Amino acid sequence: MTTTPEQTYTDGLRAWLTARGLDPTSPALVDTPRRALAALAEFTSGYDDDPAVHLARTFPVAHSGQPIIVTGVPFTSVCEHHLLLFHGTATIGYQPTPGASVAGLSKLPRVLDVYARRLQTQEQLTQQVTDALDKHLATLGSVCLIRSEHGCLAHRGARKPGAVMVTASYTGLFLENPQARADLHTLISSTS
Ligand SMILES: [Zn+2]
Repeated sequence: MTTTPEQTYTDGLRAWLTARGLDPTSPALVDTPRRALAALAEFTSGYDDDPAVHLARTFPVAHSGQPIIVTGVPFTSVCEHHLLLFHGTATIGYQPTPGASVAGLSKLPRVLDVYARRLQTQEQLTQQVTDALDKHLATLGSVCLIRSEHGCLAHRGARKPGAVMVTASYTGLFLENPQARADLHTLISSTS
């Protein structure tokens, strides 16, 4: 009988618990390997999802091409270096081409989750969100700003709970035009 990767993972956790002097058959720990595997599967469920699906449906709306932004979007992701969680909030937005159809507002948080639910670095996550908006929507530019606390920084190694990592990705006019970027930040801070 072939051993599945899932079986190898839970067997490995049981062996590790035993090596730590713990009893993996005790009532407290007997289901722990299975639960740990299920949690990891949930944290990486974004590999089964695609931003194109969420951004495929757009709707026409009368607008003149002003920024569309959603702020304070909570997320949880997993650092690819330690398999520890990082969590925080994101500001996601874009400036549509004047007259172009736009995405429903819930789609921006969904795009964030498609990528957050994968093994990640915050730098990469921030960039992937703007890349997806630019690829699947008619944009003149897009933005993603992320603030988050990393379990690997807070609880191990340097042990700095409360330290916040901030990353930004700007594309199009927000990258090329300092005034457009300044106006964008004024807009975001005036509404949060
Ligand atoms: Zn880490």
